[in-house]
Amino acid sequence: MPYKDPEKKAEYMRNYQQENREKINEINRDSRKRTNRKEKDRERYLSDPEYRDKVLEKNRQQSKKHRDRNRENLNRRRREQRQKMIEHLGGKCVGCGCEENLQFDHIDRKQKQSNVSSLLGYSDERVLVEVNKCQLLCEQCHQYKTTINHDMNKLAEGYKVSKVDKVGDKVIVTLEPSAPFAGETH
Ligand SMILES: [Zn+2]
Repeated sequence: MPYKDPEKKAEYMRNYQQENREKINEINRDSRKRTNRKEKDRERYLSDPEYRDKVLEKNRQQSKKHRDRNRENLNRRRREQRQKMIEHLGGKCVGCGCEENLQFDHIDRKQKQSNVSSLLGYSDERVLVEVNKCQLLCEQCHQYKTTINHDMNKLAEGYKVSKVDKVGDKVIVTLEPSAPFAGETH
C-alpha cells in the first residue's frame, strides 16, 4: 500500500472495498461455508459412531501411509549411504578382492565406538568418523580374521588384512600394521 498518511490510507481502503465488494463477499461466504462444514462434521463426529469409526479409520490409514513413506525414505538413505561408504573404502574386500557380502571391520577393536550399520542415517561426517577406522572384508575373510583374533589375540589386533589366500584346505591371512589413527593421543 503506497500511503503513509492515515487519511489517504483509509480512503484507499474504502475505495478498494467499494470496487471489490463482490470479490470480498465471495471470500467471506466461502470462509463461512468452510466453518459451517467443519462444525457440522464435528457434530456428526460426536453423535454418529459409524461416522466416527470411518474418520478414525481414515486417519489411521493416513498415518500409516506417512509412516511407511518415512520408513522407505530412511531405508533408501541408509542403503545409499552404505554404498557411498563402501566406495570410500575402495569397494572391495581387502583380503580377497571380491565385491560381494562386504562388511565394515574395525581394524583395531579398541578404537571401535559403534557398528557402522547402526550409524547409517546420520550425517556423512559422523558416519565417516567410524568408517575411517574400518577396512572392508567379505563375510568369509571377516570370519578368518575373527578366528585369528580369537586364537592369537595380540598378534592380529590393530593389524590390517592385506591378503587372504587359500592353499588346499589351509587359509593364509597376511596382515600388515595399520597406520596410526589421526587424533590418537597415546
Ligand atoms: Zn574376502
